[in-house]
Amino acid sequence: MDGANGAEAAANRLVAVRAEIAQACRDAGRAPQDVTLICVSKTFDIPEIRPVLAAGQRAFGENRVQEAQRKWPVLRAEAPDVVLHLIGPLQSNKAREAVETFDVIHTVDRPKIAAALADEMARQGRRLPVFIQVNTGAEPQKAGILPPEADAFIAACRAQYGLDLQGLMCIPPADEVAAPHFALLAKIAARNGVSGLSMGMSGDFPTAISQGATHVRVGSAIFGTRPAAAQPAQNPA
Ligand SMILES: *Cc1c(COP(=O)(O)O)cnc(C)c1O
Repeated sequence: MDGANGAEAAANRLVAVRAEIAQACRDAGRAPQDVTLICVSKTFDIPEIRPVLAAGQRAFGENRVQEAQRKWPVLRAEAPDVVLHLIGPLQSNKAREAVETFDVIHTVDRPKIAAALADEMARQGRRLPVFIQVNTGAEPQKAGILPPEADAFIAACRAQYGLDLQGLMCIPPADEVAAPHFALLAKIAARNGVSGLSMGMSGDFPTAISQGATHVRVGSAIFGTRPAAAQPAQNPA
């Protein structure tokens, strides 16, 4: 869909997703304001994002640094209170651009990235909230620290790298039931005193909310389906 109808459709779907989030919160006995909707705008261009901004949405997610650098300076000039979340894997040679471009980073997953981000944040005087990505399904092709290594890495991010650790993030294996992965992430967070949980996408955000998600990352349920080539979430940012 494109043009005015497409724009209207995205704004309508945003309203529907917000209502589903509110319902999932009620079902779980949680307050709706405890769950942040991150609208995932990857692959969609400025004219498609504008109506969602106009509908009041302010938290957005992108998975590639370069794409975000191209789109968001324009959109931020129109809506300075946007909060932009990096949800794609990060290479250490992109740490500078990532810290310049984003407000929250969800994909800290190894010491080299933690160190590069800490250096850049100090250099730029910009201490961003971060999430650690956990590869709950131990998938070889997927980014994220492995669950048995998570406690030590969380401790290192706090003490050694001095990062502002706000939460954990996961992407469950596409072919598995998501709830046990969300539960595992919540368990790792609880035993480490980490409060944020970035989990749940278009297909499973109500389940994620029932398991304690504080940030849900929803793209296609708002913007419509992406071209197939754009689907893999695991290419380096
Ligand atoms: C693309 C993406 C999403 C959104 O996926 P949808 O199924 O379109 O809601 C969420 N998280 C990450 C990490 C992504 O790359």
